[in-house]
Amino acid sequence: MANIVEIFSSIQGEGLYIGTRQVFVRFAGCNMACAYCDTPESRTFGKEALIECTPGRRDFSKIANPLSIECLAQHINSLLTLRHHSISLTGGEPLCQVDALVELTAKLDAPKYLETNGILFEQLAKILPQLDIISMDIKLPSIAGKEYWQEHHEFLRLASTKEVFVKIVVTGQSSKNELQQAFELVASINKSIPVILQPVTPLNGCESVLPADILLYQEQALSVLSSVRVIPQTHKFMGQL
Ligand code: SF4
Repeated sequence: MANIVEIFSSIQGEGLYIGTRQVFVRFAGCNMACAYCDTPESRTFGKEALIECTPGRRDFSKIANPLSIECLAQHINSLLTLRHHSISLTGGEPLCQVDALVELTAKLDAPKYLETNGILFEQLAKILPQLDIISMDIKLPSIAGKEYWQEHHEFLRLASTKEVFVKIVVTGQSSKNELQQAFELVASINKSIPVILQPVTPLNGCESVLPADILLYQEQALSVLSSVRVIPQTHKFMGQL
């Protein structure tokens, strides 16, 4: 069984695969509480999941949680009538429900793209063989409230056996030192792993990063990494989910 927030077809608005069409499966529950979280409703288990009936038409129906894996897989695969790049397993933090995820991914008919906060490495090890692409966050201590360097290092070491890219949300509170630590962490595993610097979408009083600073941070990253892009959350200004 799995606790789900919503399932729908939309445009990927972040990261390396920006602009591609995906089916999004938003899992409920998260092990973090980031100040800039744009899906706070997904951090807890809700009574009902919203399921889109026709890809991209927003004709949602409500289904009681938890959903059986069989039923969930059926709903997801029914949206693949339109050609989709992949299925985004997102949240919340999907790895919080890793046993359901392992069962589900075996039944899906399109490539599996995991969006994760990059901390739960033991859970990642369980699902890794069934994943195609991993979008992994590195959470900076200035926003997470504590350091996760060891967890992130172990997570990325495992994830680097698959296609992976790293996303770092940068805010007005981010510091040069913590960013340097993040860049060196990635470089210590493989300096070719693509890194996306994502200027924060200012929510809940989160301070935007200054335009001059993001240029400096990209230069800093490029001194140790070979592929560094700056990409904001584009689905927000396209009015997409
Ligand atoms: S990890 Fe993601 S879902 Fe969880 S609180 Fe942070 S931004 Fe929100």
